[in-house]
Amino acid sequence: MTAALIDGKAFAATLRARVGEAARSFATEAGRKAGLAVVLVGEDPASQVYVRSKGKATIEAGMASFEHRLPADASQAELLALVAALNADPAVDGILVQLPLPGQLDEQAVVETIDPAKDVDGLTPVSSGRLALGLPGLVPCTPLGCLMLLKAHYAERRGSLSGLDAVVIGRSILVGKPMAQLLLGESCTVTIAHSRTRDLPAVVRRADIVVAAVGRAEMVTGDWLKPGATVIDVGINRLPPAEGAAKGRLVGDVDFASASAVAGAITPVPGGVGPMTIAVLLRNTLVAAQRRAGLAITDL
Ligand code: NAP
Repeated sequence: MTAALIDGKAFAATLRARVGEAARSFATEAGRKAGLAVVLVGEDPASQVYVRSKGKATIEAGMASFEHRLPADASQAELLALVAALNADPAVDGILVQLPLPGQLDEQAVVETIDPAKDVDGLTPVSSGRLALGLPGLVPCTPLGCLMLLKAHYAERRGSLSGLDAVVIGRSILVGKPMAQLLLGESCTVTIAHSRTRDLPAVVRRADIVVAAVGRAEMVTGDWLKPGATVIDVGINRLPPAEGAAKGRLVGDVDFASASAVAGAITPVPGGVGPMTIAVLLRNTLVAAQRRAGLAITDL
């Protein structure tokens, strides 16, 4: 293996500690804790795990955690009323509606109801518009976490990301599109690839930075990469279990073994991008709280 490991787990732990410190100062200055409300509709086991770990991390960071659960057959009106109540609640700085929602609910309409000042997931049209315009705002947690890892990696090597060729594979609203906007904001030359891209390996081979957010296990192999490229693997995919095992292995969208023989640096799965997402959610909640209270934003 030649690639250096980009240790998202360690970076996330440091970020969470810094957020915790700033959250405690916020509580002293504002006379209340910053608060994150998480809404879970239904019983999806993966969503339940995410919501539980978000609540635990919020409390560990010295913030208030509000968990709201609605039954799987909740109506659109019920959910919109809950979001409206959270918008109006002064103790709530951040609102996160855990996606995906059960089929009878209109996700976009729900997201659009969230007060942009409390949009810690960065998914409202106002948040994405502000990102596209290069204005300060709340940015989706996973791509912002990826950018933090990239900036830290390049800080020692060349100071900035300016002028680098970046290829983002995936154009989802949650990851690919905001990732591309963030890299453009750092003056990278950005290509967004997707399922209709022709000769994807050739497109990826041009890149100094590759961000894979596809949802296809080990799709990007070492022979797709320019030697020395920096690879950020957002994918979380579970392989079918080996014989006798209860669960399959977690892998990314990048074939780690072949890619790490060619790349200059790479994030592992697990332990790369994954831990950054919750850390950035806490960071976004703190930023939202500081803005709402008219306090200076801590540079985290
Ligand atoms: P998504 O909404 O399903 O989007 C996948 C994107 O990949 C789409 O834009 C799709 O193109 C593109 N794509 C699919 N097949 C392709 C192919 N063969 N070649 C090129 N592009 C292809 O997924 P997402 O929400 O962005 O998530 C992507 C991955 O990241 C998943 O594995 C997910 O579990 C993971 N994830 C991880 C975190 C974390 O915290 N680490 C957070 C969010 C997501 P089209 O638009 O043309 O269909």
